[in-house]
Amino acid sequence: MTTRISDKIYKIELPIPFPLRTTNVFFVDEPPRTLVDTGIKTEASVEALKRGMEQIGHSLKSIERILITHGHIDHYGQAKTLSSLSGAPIYIHPKEYGRIRSIIHSLGFLKSILLRNGAPEALVNEAIRYIKSSQKMGDPLEEAYFLNDGDTVPFESMAWKTIHCPGHSPGLICFYWPEKKILFSGDHLLKEITPNPTLNVPENIPPFRYPSLKEYLTSLEKIERLEISLLLPGHGEEIDDAKSLIRKILVHHQDRMEHILTFLSTGEKTPFEIAMDLFPGVPPFEVFLGISEAVGHLEILKEKEMVKVKERDGKDYYSLETRLG
Ligand SMILES: [Zn+2]
Ligand SMILES: [Zn+2]
Repeated sequence: MTTRISDKIYKIELPIPFPLRTTNVFFVDEPPRTLVDTGIKTEASVEALKRGMEQIGHSLKSIERILITHGHIDHYGQAKTLSSLSGAPIYIHPKEYGRIRSIIHSLGFLKSILLRNGAPEALVNEAIRYIKSSQKMGDPLEEAYFLNDGDTVPFESMAWKTIHCPGHSPGLICFYWPEKKILFSGDHLLKEITPNPTLNVPENIPPFRYPSLKEYLTSLEKIERLEISLLLPGHGEEIDDAKSLIRKILVHHQDRMEHILTFLSTGEKTPFEIAMDLFPGVPPFEVFLGISEAVGHLEILKEKEMVKVKERDGKDYYSLETRLG
């Protein structure tokens, strides 16, 4: 389905076999004609994009540039196919480019991190299998150009700004069109759900750190300072009140932090146990997201010296910091 957002911008919804059901890609009908994100690489997805482009008098070959908000399969999956078909160059943040290229090789290390965070082996194996199979819905990128924070994305009559918003993913970038105060937010901000700051495989040197939630909250503040009249997210509907959405997310994280502290007051816990308390009965892949959420909070609480961590039998146990005086 294609929706006209403004005189030059069209939203095309593409199907994905995940709970969110669709990914939004945006086509900008001004030279160089640009596609923001691509959807996954499946027959249904490419057909939907083809139809969407036809509705506005274009074909896949009309694409002259591809911008990727972040390296999750539903956002870059068919970038390589579209690029070879149209000749359009691909632009992405260097951190995401590296992540996409190394993801398959880092699964062993990711597995060890999940086990260390207390997840049972059978569940970890299932989550890893899920990640592996979802990687089939896209091609790794080869040739790509890099966009960093503050870089300009020029068009014939306008210039967008690249805003680096690490958190949901370490190299996530938003695109800001100052004249219209429009922000393409990728998965940094979504209307119906709070985006997960996903646990990233840390540098393979102890002590392991998991900064994604902290970075995510800092990136929210960065967006809060912008004047935004319309926010175009990577999934779901457009958002016209960005400021109140950001406040809602901040309150939500504060509530979660307090919930975790209350849970820890009953004794030491692994991040997996905390994830199960926050999201009881979630399917295996979401266990990974739940642990991401838990360790994100624990990292912040550790920095504030409110919790401490101890390793025992290869697992991390967190407990409340008891202060004297
Ligand atoms: Zn994402
Ligand atoms: Zn997404």
